[in-house]
Amino acid sequence: MNFPLSIFTLLFVVTTVFAQLGLEAASYFRKHLSSTSEVYLPSESNYTLETTQRWNAFSAPTYVISVKPTTDLDIQNIIEYAYHNNISFLGTGGGHGYSATLDTVRNGIEIDLGHFNTVSIDPNANTMTVGGSAHFANITGPLYDAGKEFQVGSCSCVGIVGATLGGGVGPYGGLHGLQIDALQSVRLVTGTGALINVSATSHPDLWWGIRGAGFNFGIVTSATYQVYDFTNNGQAMSADLRFRASQNASLYEFARSFTGKLPDAFSIDIAIAYEEVFGGTYFFANFIYVGPMEDGIALIQPLLDLGPFDRNITMIPWKDIETSSKFGVDALACIKGNFHSVWGLNLYQIDVPTLINAVNYMDTVYAQYPGFRQAFLAIDMYASRVTESVPDDATAYPYRNAIARFLLDVGFTNSSLATAASQVGRDVRSIFIPTSGAKTDNIEVYVNYGHGDEGQLGWYTERKLPRLNALKNKYDPSKLFSHYNALEATYNVPKY
Ligand SMILES: Cc1cc2nc3c(=O)[nH]c(=O)nc-3n(C[C@H](O)[C@H](O)[C@H](O)COP(=O)(O)OP(=O)(O)OC[C@H]3O[C@@H](n4cnc5c(N)ncnc54)[C@H](O)[C@@H]3O)c2cc1C
Repeated sequence: MNFPLSIFTLLFVVTTVFAQLGLEAASYFRKHLSSTSEVYLPSESNYTLETTQRWNAFSAPTYVISVKPTTDLDIQNIIEYAYHNNISFLGTGGGHGYSATLDTVRNGIEIDLGHFNTVSIDPNANTMTVGGSAHFANITGPLYDAGKEFQVGSCSCVGIVGATLGGGVGPYGGLHGLQIDALQSVRLVTGTGALINVSATSHPDLWWGIRGAGFNFGIVTSATYQVYDFTNNGQAMSADLRFRASQNASLYEFARSFTGKLPDAFSIDIAIAYEEVFGGTYFFANFIYVGPMEDGIALIQPLLDLGPFDRNITMIPWKDIETSSKFGVDALACIKGNFHSVWGLNLYQIDVPTLINAVNYMDTVYAQYPGFRQAFLAIDMYASRVTESVPDDATAYPYRNAIARFLLDVGFTNSSLATAASQVGRDVRSIFIPTSGAKTDNIEVYVNYGHGDEGQLGWYTERKLPRLNALKNKYDPSKLFSHYNALEATYNVPKY
């Protein structure tokens, strides 16, 4: 009879202790941070309204307090406080990181970079400087108005810096390479609390590491990038096509036919999803061609000949690529707070039978689990010529030679499906691994697409680790930045 009471008492004590931790931190930060900074406790009614929410509510970090600093010095102070009080912390940019490793932040301090969202463009110097939390949606309009373009990702709500630190891939990557290749410098508060500028000439050792493993060393308060004059007058063809699942072989054969010869201006994104009105499992595909419509149409003519059951082919300003393409799926991709189990893998070849197996598997999943009918399985293919023109040893990013990536998002609303969601993800990845073309036994994945269980060999590779680990010891010796696909961290990613 005492047992339930004991559990209750224990829970009460633990909750009270953490609430107290939050209150103490709040009191400290209110005294020691700049007057424009803000402090929010999870118990406050405006907490979710005022703080950046996470895209993935599954495996999410938990906080005793969220702090919204406004100066670099504030960030230094917060890190120092967390370190001295032995409280884990995490910086939040766009909040779209979904790795299962994030749940190693328990009762921590959130450094919500929401106020670091400035964007300034120098059209004469062809540069753009953004704050550490600016989203792609913040830059596309201003850049377009200035007659410039940039290599954006596929979702307007993702943090630019958050995406860049891992590499930064997207449909303009064929033309401009990775986002790290456009990066010119960052301002960073390191794990030792130092505020430093990092560029080719300032801390060049870290400059190498920040480009591909950047989450491991500190918090970027601002980043300066090269931007580019318009290609094709700032206009691109966006072709959205929908196909029946039975056309899978032809679609994937089309993608395979571009191996090693994808034009720089052409990108391919093919996904399977489920929609009752489209007869269940179906494909939606998007093709961006940054050039005249007739040339883009010529490229996709073999697919048009297949007879997609739906199409939307238009010329759009490049600034609308994220928001208008893929039948406007960006609006859904920006919704926060749902459960997602996300899995990815690099592909060095397109193996059509493997892709067909994966489609068949997902077809069964959709039938068996109505709760997974919002799941989608995508492959993206961006030309790698420009990306590969940067030598492998110029940056920490290890996968310049990947020709495509698969990404599976098992979205679900009922938490009782967590174990099954993990199983689906693991199964699909297992289907892809044998024919991915990887030359090692590691689970090679673009770190930003990682599920969280791949480990540092999978995110950073054996050949990069010695140099990266040395940087870790120098710039984050206490391993404070260890909660997101981190170097030297040991995770026990749950299988649920
Ligand atoms: C719907 C969706 C679409 C995506 N599309 C693409 C895509 O097209 N191309 C692509 O490359 N990736 C894409 N991603 C992956 C994305 O790049 C990563 O999830 C990225 O880490 C998200 O950054 P964020 O700032 O939004 O997320 P957060 O969760 O805020 O941050 C993720 C990690 O980065 C750290 N971080 C964020 N900002 C900073 C900073 N200023 N300084 C230091 N550390 C920081 C955080 O502490 C955390 O560890 C997509 C993700 C989603 C969910």
